Amino acid sequence: MKEQEQVQKDASKGVSRRNFLKTLGVTGAALSMPVTLLAATGNNMDPGGFETIKANEQVKFRKEIPKIFYKRIPKTEGYIGTTQVTPDAVGFPDAREHGFSQFFIHGANKDYTGEWGQLLKEAQEEKKKLVATFDEQQLEDMMWGDAITQASDNWHINLEWGKWDPIAINPNKLELPPDVMSLKLKKVAKWFGVDQVGICEIDESLRPFFFKIGRTQGSLRGGQREGVTVDPGREVPWPYPYKYAIVLAKAEGTYGVKTLTGPLNNATVATECGEDDIFPRQLESVIRQLGYDARAQSMNGTEDFNMVAMAVAAGLGELGRNGQIVGPWGAHIRLSVVTTNVPLVADDYMDFGLQEFCKTCKKCAENCPAEALSLEDEPSLIGGVMRYAFDNMKCTKQRTITGCASCAGVCPFTKPDNFIHSVGRVVGRNPLGAKVLKEMDDLFYGVNPTPRDLDGLAPWRI
Ligand code: SF4
Ligand code: SF4
Repeated sequence: MKEQEQVQKDASKGVSRRNFLKTLGVTGAALSMPVTLLAATGNNMDPGGFETIKANEQVKFRKEIPKIFYKRIPKTEGYIGTTQVTPDAVGFPDAREHGFSQFFIHGANKDYTGEWGQLLKEAQEEKKKLVATFDEQQLEDMMWGDAITQASDNWHINLEWGKWDPIAINPNKLELPPDVMSLKLKKVAKWFGVDQVGICEIDESLRPFFFKIGRTQGSLRGGQREGVTVDPGREVPWPYPYKYAIVLAKAEGTYGVKTLTGPLNNATVATECGEDDIFPRQLESVIRQLGYDARAQSMNGTEDFNMVAMAVAAGLGELGRNGQIVGPWGAHIRLSVVTTNVPLVADDYMDFGLQEFCKTCKKCAENCPAEALSLEDEPSLIGGVMRYAFDNMKCTKQRTITGCASCAGVCPFTKPDNFIHSVGRVVGRNPLGAKVLKEMDDLFYGVNPTPRDLDGLAPWRI
């Protein structure tokens, strides 16, 4: 019932905004086009959007992104996707130094020394103070959110490096032309439930994005199992033993992400993250059953590389100001990968105008509660990668205290797949349209979007 009321509330909100736009008497050519299109949708303003919201507020996307939203660009030397990468680019050589790994190791050892130890202490104290202000409902919300998050993290913990027993490689190979095999594997992955699939070739251009030392325990393990406080690490071989990466992308529930921080946000992100332990392992098993070597990699801390770089290389989107992969459907994307030697065809890079759009937009940085994202007008070369600065320590602390995916939730591209937002996605592709789309987004959703209320969204709020 509440869900229905929420849907009606949302629909009427949209109508009044539409009328508001009409009364503005906007005459500019750029603005008038979306307004006309909005008016033309009549009462059926959200086909396939609200109607497809499941009880847990996941929003389904079309499995193929219509080509009108982007163009394909061929692989270009010195670039990964639309991001410039210099030959001396330095990645993140030791996976154990990742922010959350540091937090979990320090937490498990009760070690509050060093900058990460200090930061953890501050985060724990601030969280304690925050929780002390919670009313009964907020305390219950926190318990549900934590329980769902832990349930999903448990997949991570139990499927970390060395815990999964891959199926034997079938000695009878299925031989298919690489383009046909690529298409069929993509379709099988989508049939399993993944939203988008891209393929990249693992060559020297991706070397900076591979760890030199990988983790043997998922980053969560340190805090979960007594006595396990030191990860010995393992060398990630190069040349890499797999030639291709099949990158799987799953959209997080849009409305859960739009709570921006807090228990439902945590639960939404973690749930998709947990699912992403399953999809690559299903695909890994399929490929091995077809007679080829393959290895699943999920974002549990034991992956061999930076998954965002792989997703950009596989043509699933572009690198955004927020440091995440952003596609025409938004920044609320969870990634997993299958590395394999089955002969495949790599996808071209994707360009939907994000680099110019991010210069104008800045919405993620303006709404980051930790001020961890750069507000600079232009990206700069950081470690050999043309990108915007990101303060990993500030972000890790914030996420520890409140949970956070604000930068993904406020992104103008993070919207349900419906007609109105489709218009926006097309308009945003060129620099002039980018300004219009940003203004429309500010008008409809606010410059500082209000977090969605948990009522009617959180499955435990009946
Ligand atoms: S997750 Fe939150 S704290 Fe981290 S960069 Fe994004 S908005 Fe900022
Ligand atoms: S919120 Fe704006 S600036 Fe940030 S990633 Fe999305 S489009 Fe780029």
